[in-house]
Amino acid sequence: MRRRYMDAIALVQHFGKPDIFLTMTCNPCWPEIQEHLQPMEEVQNRPDLVSRVFRAKVEELKTNIQKTNIFGKIAAFMYTIEFQKRGLPHAHFLIILMDGYKLLTPQSYDKIVCAELPDPHIDHHLHKLVTKHMIHGPCGYLNPSNSCMQKEGKCKFKYPKQLTEQTTKGKNLYPLYKRPKIITPIKVRGHNIDNSWIVPYNPFLLKKFGCHINVEICSDIKVIKYIYKYICKGHDKIAFFVHNNDTNVEIDEIKEY
Ligand SMILES: [Zn+2]
Repeated sequence: MRRRYMDAIALVQHFGKPDIFLTMTCNPCWPEIQEHLQPMEEVQNRPDLVSRVFRAKVEELKTNIQKTNIFGKIAAFMYTIEFQKRGLPHAHFLIILMDGYKLLTPQSYDKIVCAELPDPHIDHHLHKLVTKHMIHGPCGYLNPSNSCMQKEGKCKFKYPKQLTEQTTKGKNLYPLYKRPKIITPIKVRGHNIDNSWIVPYNPFLLKKFGCHINVEICSDIKVIKYIYKYICKGHDKIAFFVHNNDTNVEIDEIKEY
């Protein structure tokens, strides 16, 4: 584990601070999973199928990041895939953009990350996807027993987030994304939800993958320590790669799940 942290640090020393942090979680309702289940068979009993499909989705996402350059040209990126004992596999990506593509202003953040409910009259499909995959909890005063709640009665992911009319750089790990007040909150899992509960997403990727896919701008180098915490949580299996456009270096890999 120590070595992976060092790999991440070496990458940053060589290519600079990461610009984007992305987390994708497997969706057990993906048709590629559902159509291969036997009648009465349950997803949790087919980890082989789940990991195969998830792996394919991660490959597709890598293509979007590295070849299609959806965020701009990439200097390097690294990712981990985690298979927890309970819960669904998920992947974390750290992406470093090339000079000239760096995200330097709140306007450039807004082009990549969105943290508000879309207008259902303008984009009904996206609205449905956000309410299905990108609502945190809720926790806190709406639901004090949610799993993210810590002893002090605070959400470990710091939800609900501050409502704000525009994106600003913020003081912590991530910027403050635009989360305007909405007139009529929507009902999700029995609670009234406004923009303070939206997990930041990229509309294109959310539509393409139809799963929980959190995209954040890294405004601070501390993100590396944050990733390190993820890596060291003690998961069953982990794959960790470091890539760049020229050499496609793989520092560490577990090819077979
Ligand atoms: Zn929470």
